[in-house]
Amino acid sequence: MSSRDTPVDRVDVRRHNLSLILRLLSTAGPRSRAALASATGLTRATVSSLAAELLERGLIREVGMEADQRLGRPATLLQVDGAHIVTMGVELGVGYTAVLVTDLAGSVVYERRRPLASMSVRPDDVVSVLAAEIRRALKATAANGLVTVGITVAVAGVVDRRTGSVIFAPNLGWRDVPLLDRLRSSLDTSIPLSLENEANLGALAEFRNGAFAGTQYLVYLIVENGVGAGIVADGRVLRGAFGAAGEFGHTTVRPGGEMCACGSRGCLETTIGLRALLGSTVPDLAIGLLNDRRLSPEAKVAFVIDRAKAGDPMALRGLAELGEWLGIGLANVVDSLNPEVIVLAGILSSIAPWVLESATRVMRANTLRMPTECRLETSALGFSAATLGGTLAAAEQLFNDPTMQIEGIQR
Ligand SMILES: [Zn+2]
Repeated sequence: MSSRDTPVDRVDVRRHNLSLILRLLSTAGPRSRAALASATGLTRATVSSLAAELLERGLIREVGMEADQRLGRPATLLQVDGAHIVTMGVELGVGYTAVLVTDLAGSVVYERRRPLASMSVRPDDVVSVLAAEIRRALKATAANGLVTVGITVAVAGVVDRRTGSVIFAPNLGWRDVPLLDRLRSSLDTSIPLSLENEANLGALAEFRNGAFAGTQYLVYLIVENGVGAGIVADGRVLRGAFGAAGEFGHTTVRPGGEMCACGSRGCLETTIGLRALLGSTVPDLAIGLLNDRRLSPEAKVAFVIDRAKAGDPMALRGLAELGEWLGIGLANVVDSLNPEVIVLAGILSSIAPWVLESATRVMRANTLRMPTECRLETSALGFSAATLGGTLAAAEQLFNDPTMQIEGIQR
């Protein structure tokens, strides 16, 4: 026996092969054992043994028959049995929380979005609200006989996924908050919890389920109160050495300009964030709207859109100017990352009719001339992108390791 051929390696190989089969059934749809063998290069006997374990674990099921093309004998098809296993995405936004639960097959089984009216963003208060929302969702899904196998919490800020801490969230005013530890002790659950940046999850959702699914180089740019971005490079979310990749909102576009929530001056966020938008388009309402905790960013932007539709010159000028700053920010993104598509989300989707043209013009004028240009599109996933990404990320753990222990499964 070579030093590499240890029992541990064989366990790893089997886990890898289980993952391979489960993933293939998830992405390619129902397949026979023979088709799985030819798609993976594994032997029929190995595939049968792997399928038996996945069936035993309740992760796949047998469905119908398909005529075997060579022998004319019918073969049983296997498919992912997502129906009783669910994952949860939980978003802590500025001014709201959102929870989405989907089964392994991707169907939504629970959804709730709640404004955080006048709530403080002190970590203790946020933890108790998030825990209550998670408990409520767990109760509702358990009542329907569903088993939750993973929860991803999304935060608009830089997070340490390893420790589950929020390193820096300028718009919440948080630094070094051990969010997952606190949630774990409050929830008292053994369900795996993980923490991720909101825009990274939005990018994952776009890459998996959005209109541009499968685009290997994609940037997801979301503006709500602040500016966030998630980068898909080579089909994977790019996080950077310390988890802060994609913080384009804090790149400097106006040295010495306005003060940003991060403490620097002249960040892109100070030119295209909600504060900048309201200040330049509806200056008479801006302060009142910015201080109003009951209204979501979208509801605040509705005031801008009303005035733009009515032809208000100041609103139109402010939007055009924002489009130009956006174009400068995007030009830097394009020349740094060479994405195929940039998906605009959050309030950028709402104001797209007024900013897309100027943003595209300025972006094109400030990027390298390439035979194929980056496309600028708006997200069709709406408000649920981060929570959807959260459910996908949580399911990913099970797809990576189908042998993970799932409590509460009775077969
Ligand atoms: Zn900044």
